[in-house]
Amino acid sequence: MIPIIDSKRQYATIAEKAEKEVLEVMRSGQYILGKHNKAFEEEIAKYIGVNHAVCLNSGTDALHLALRALNIGEGDEVITVAFTFVATTEAIGIVGATPVFVDIDENTFNMNPDKIEEKITPKTKAILPVHLYGQPCDMDKIMAIAKKYNLYIIEDCCQAIGAEYKGQKVGTFGDIGCYSFYPTKNLGTMGDGGLAITNDENLKNRIIALRNHGGAIRYHHDEIGVNSRLDEIQAAILRVKLPYIDEWNKSRRAHAAYYNELFKGVEGIETPKELDNTYCVYHQYTIKIENRDEVHKMLQENGIGAMIYYPIPLHLQKVHEYLGFKEGYLPKTEKNTKLVLSLPMFAEITKEEQETVAKTVIECVKKCLVKA
Ligand SMILES: *Cc1c(COP(=O)(O)O)cnc(C)c1O
Repeated sequence: MIPIIDSKRQYATIAEKAEKEVLEVMRSGQYILGKHNKAFEEEIAKYIGVNHAVCLNSGTDALHLALRALNIGEGDEVITVAFTFVATTEAIGIVGATPVFVDIDENTFNMNPDKIEEKITPKTKAILPVHLYGQPCDMDKIMAIAKKYNLYIIEDCCQAIGAEYKGQKVGTFGDIGCYSFYPTKNLGTMGDGGLAITNDENLKNRIIALRNHGGAIRYHHDEIGVNSRLDEIQAAILRVKLPYIDEWNKSRRAHAAYYNELFKGVEGIETPKELDNTYCVYHQYTIKIENRDEVHKMLQENGIGAMIYYPIPLHLQKVHEYLGFKEGYLPKTEKNTKLVLSLPMFAEITKEEQETVAKTVIECVKKCLVKA
């Protein structure tokens, strides 16, 4: 069995240090918003190249509180994609705003910037690009549109820590960048965790207040906030892991290159593409194939942990039924939803395992081609 991700192998790398730090936190009696939160915020801000980072309880909360901090709510529209994890639009819904869907670019699976302008209305407040699978969006074009129409930008970087567009890390282009430390992300902790980053001090202060019941001073509450703090234990673990992230992302890129080589010239398999001048961190290695569901099933039977991210585009999910979208509204999103298959990808995967994955995928694709 080759799993899509093997968190235990990564744990082996950091076990000794992490166990020592966690034990120390447990013995310290300081479990919430302590020294590790503060230190991690400084360390990760430095790593990303941004003035401020605020630790939160999840990536979903980072998106939600980013929208709140920008005063986006009832009656506002936020332009985003349907080819993403539900948390992206869930956050928009939580603040009472409406998601407006733009189709994707088939080559990158990300927001097609050429389709944004036609979706802008007087109600549009922000654009929310998602750097899906660790691949940066076309930020030059997106930023130009935001500037022209005076819109906020919130970047969903939950799958893209360390990814770069023209040498600049994602999350630093717009007003607020949102990250997740869910265990399976490129930088994952051992529970839930998230982060919002910004260069704007006022936004930072607003998010700090919102994460702790809507007040910067204890027992002084200025607005309705939430409880979205990162546990000290999680912050301590993240501090142990952060120094490895570049190495881990580099390994992922090497594995992606090796998969590309193994699939080169194979009929019926389309390997992922990268935009020029980007540093994709391959949260997922996602191929496109016909007969995807059949191949997926065969792979599972053969012990290959391939996954479909995501099987139903968000505009066709029940949660968004009230918006009235029908099939055909986002042709590229819908088409690619039926083709994508993500293969085992994690820093510690071995060449032999990749060869087994590729061999099995090629066999299954061939069998399905013959049948079809
Ligand atoms: C994981 C993820 C989120 C949500 O992060 P959580 O920490 O699980 O709340 C949001 N957007 C995308 C694209 C994600 O992959």
